[in-house]
Amino acid sequence: MATRWERAQRLDEEDPLAHVRKHFALPDDVCYLDGNSLGALPRGVGDRVREVVDEGWGKQLIRGWDGAGWWEAPERIGDRIGGLLGAAAGQTVVGETTTVQIFNALVAAARLRPDRELIVTDSDHFPTDRYLAASVARMLGKRLLLVPVAEAPALLRERAAEIAVLALPAVDFRTGELWPLRELTAEAHGAGAVVMWDLCHAVGAMPVDLDAAEVDVAVGCSYKFLSGGPGAPAFIYVAERHHSRLDLPLTGWTGHAEPFAMAAEYQPAPGIARARVGTPHVLSLLALEAALAVFDLVELAAVRAKSVALGNFLIECAESELVPLGFEVVTPCDESRRGSQVTLRHPQAYELVRLLAGRGVIGDSRPPNLLRFGLNALYVSYQDVHRAVQELAALAR
Ligand SMILES: *Cc1c(COP(=O)(O)O)cnc(C)c1O
Repeated sequence: MATRWERAQRLDEEDPLAHVRKHFALPDDVCYLDGNSLGALPRGVGDRVREVVDEGWGKQLIRGWDGAGWWEAPERIGDRIGGLLGAAAGQTVVGETTTVQIFNALVAAARLRPDRELIVTDSDHFPTDRYLAASVARMLGKRLLLVPVAEAPALLRERAAEIAVLALPAVDFRTGELWPLRELTAEAHGAGAVVMWDLCHAVGAMPVDLDAAEVDVAVGCSYKFLSGGPGAPAFIYVAERHHSRLDLPLTGWTGHAEPFAMAAEYQPAPGIARARVGTPHVLSLLALEAALAVFDLVELAAVRAKSVALGNFLIECAESELVPLGFEVVTPCDESRRGSQVTLRHPQAYELVRLLAGRGVIGDSRPPNLLRFGLNALYVSYQDVHRAVQELAALAR
């Protein structure tokens, strides 16, 4: 029987996405399992950024806004990301941080249901999402309810008439659990609520069908599985059916119907352009645009299939090598309930992750005792996964 190492080698040889890794500038000696926090650098980005700086900023100067497509970048790149989310063009805009987009989207979502009292969000949601939900509830005079995602359907049935917005993560950032976006969206709509999804850990890692699922509003970041670079701008999606009534709180001048008229009163642009806020972050936007070129080489269904297989392999290795050493697999083993990371629990999580990095295996930890391993199928190999588990076992023994 083949050893696990031999299997890892064979799986890499047969991997239909193996050719994509060479498009990322990963150091040879690093096993990078933290692309769910900061995606690796796609090779095309450096040259593009140098060109934008030298030719655009350096030579075109202010003419770049028109001549180099800077002004339209938020919508152009928004449509590109929308294409990865099952969103038809004209519904997605890129800019600002995820945190800013969550605020803008959540207030606007709540304003679509002014007669309802409750904002509901995941009690295990990423901190910024929870902190903002609390602030938005206070600001709008609504009440905030925190519930585990698994209990959201029951709550929707019990308090159907009261819930304005249900704001959930597609994937739990700690455990890597994938939630059923389509079903939960349908249940929220059954209760008359608006749904807002945070796609930070889903976008670029798997197919998402925002239009088909009839999602109302979504946000997400572009520096995780999209590899847009540190602090790359976030995106907001709003379904077209809501555009005419969409009342966003950040009424910045670039979302005005006629930004250069410098009008006295705010008049929102038609369509998703009203979700623009201020002057676009051109350098970051164009770096992100260059990074997205990698997605022209792949189908998201193939990315998802490999991510699932990597996760299955990691869990299999962990169960045989790490569970006997006191680790626990936290991420669901059922692949349909798993995002693109595997989380383990161990009392020395923080210290082990630090020591692993010293051996060239980069993951991360989350308090109090979780180790997270991101599996970006575009550049992670089965041999990476095997090596990570072996190194971790050697450290924990
Ligand atoms: C990564 C992440 C964020 C990050 O927000 P920033 O404003 O980019 O710092 C927010 N929410 C979720 C669910 C995340 O996973």
